Amino acid sequence: MIHPRPTKLQSFQRSALGALLVHLFTLSIPGTAAVTDPRPNIVFVMTDDHAAHAISAYGSKVNITPNMDRLGRQGLRLERCYAVNSICTPSRATILTGKYSHKNGSPVFNTFNSAQPTVAKYLQVAGYHTGLVGKWHLGSDPTGFDSWEILPGQGRYIDPVLYDKDGAKVYKGYATDVITDLGLAFLSNRPPGKPFLLMLHHKAPHREWTPDAKHKAMFAHRTIPEPSTLHDNYATRSDALKEQKQTVFKHLTRGDLKMIPPAELQGTNRSAWMGAVPKEVEITDAQGRRQTLTGEALNRWKYQRYMQDYLACVQSVDDNLGRLTDWLDANGLKNNTIVIYTSDQGFFLGDHGLYDKRFFYEESARMPFLVRWPGVIKPGSTSEALVINTDFAPTLMAAAGLTVPSDIQGRDLRPIFSGLKPESWRDAIYYRYYHDPGHHNTRAHYGIRTQRYKLIHYWKIDQWELFDLKQDPKELRNLSQDPGQQAILTELKKSLYRLKSELKDNDEFTDSLPKDDVDGPPKKWKPGYGPTASSGNR
Ligand code: CA
Repeated sequence: MIHPRPTKLQSFQRSALGALLVHLFTLSIPGTAAVTDPRPNIVFVMTDDHAAHAISAYGSKVNITPNMDRLGRQGLRLERCYAVNSICTPSRATILTGKYSHKNGSPVFNTFNSAQPTVAKYLQVAGYHTGLVGKWHLGSDPTGFDSWEILPGQGRYIDPVLYDKDGAKVYKGYATDVITDLGLAFLSNRPPGKPFLLMLHHKAPHREWTPDAKHKAMFAHRTIPEPSTLHDNYATRSDALKEQKQTVFKHLTRGDLKMIPPAELQGTNRSAWMGAVPKEVEITDAQGRRQTLTGEALNRWKYQRYMQDYLACVQSVDDNLGRLTDWLDANGLKNNTIVIYTSDQGFFLGDHGLYDKRFFYEESARMPFLVRWPGVIKPGSTSEALVINTDFAPTLMAAAGLTVPSDIQGRDLRPIFSGLKPESWRDAIYYRYYHDPGHHNTRAHYGIRTQRYKLIHYWKIDQWELFDLKQDPKELRNLSQDPGQQAILTELKKSLYRLKSELKDNDEFTDSLPKDDVDGPPKKWKPGYGPTASSGNR
């Protein structure tokens, strides 16, 4: 990536303070009309657990997402964008700071130290009007936003509670609609003459995947194609995959499957019934006949019920993304606004027999990333450059004309946006997941992905997985024990340790992690704000 060396004046203007002073000066010249700020507005839409392979622009075989597809057609689709720690709180902390978990202090579900610099703070200081609505899930209250209104913890889908610095409020309706309404209100009420940053974070399609009535009906009788790895037997893979507890067949509960408890069950008995895994289920089929499902028939039914609800939640997000972009276009904000659609990580959609995320496998760590930026991004672009979520903050800062501080670990994506292929672009990405055993009994691991290979080390059990993604894109054949692959294994281990060292990730940090990594409500949570709906739904 080669940029001309900036002049001293340009360097000053690109600094946060410089940009602010120039901005204030420009707008306050006596006797002149306010000058339109040329810096781009930014609308950053992020969902929770939306896998790229549930977007038709990414070749989904299970749904059609016209509004996400349209955003991609108007701009760029990143094919190889990854979370560096595939779970909610850590990914969000990385997106805000441009730093890995070991640098921003949020490797697990611990509280994000909101005193540290974030992209929102940098843009706010530079004169941006900054807003946040929806899912936050970082334990502490937001900082760096002129206005914010967030779900407590995980929040709930129906009639959600949101709170701001002054207190909480119940909103009648469905969370995805409500959060979009609040985002549009932020845009409508913004001060004139200032560029803005809106971070609009949906709860959907996070577990427990509760759709609204309209979208539930769309998927209620649909048969969703099964992924080819739904019955993966985990041969050749590590014990970590065999020990996890996030399978569709063995771990989805009656609550996840939206089963109706017997009316006589109340209180803890009712909760226990909902939290148990059903061994048989009675259903009424399309012909109105009663059937008791067990074994393989029950397994396949579970997959359908899970995916029908998940995809119905996604469909509401797609509708609301369309509502948001239509509003921007109708209000003269199309040409100078960057619009991004992404998710905090991917999700298993029955792939490897799983739901949830956490693992460094493709379906889980890969993030959708669609962006339009008229005049900068050529419509219909795609890129296979290796991108990670540390790159988001520096990209937005650079787009706002700021110099990116040297302690930020991500990289400015604008060359990728412009269709350039910088010679110095990264050839491998580093990943580290910390919860162990944590929820779903997932083992901690770190690893690297290059354009062709992936190497994963489950360090606490000292087991390795090596995949040739060109020959084996579904990651079914672990080659780490293959005598013919030892040369590439050695080479990848060297790259892994070099990258780990360059990023200053040391194992002392991991050893010092708090033992209590339990998800929970924000520290300032007050009981009157309503239920957090967080326990068991991470
Ligand atoms: Ca998530």
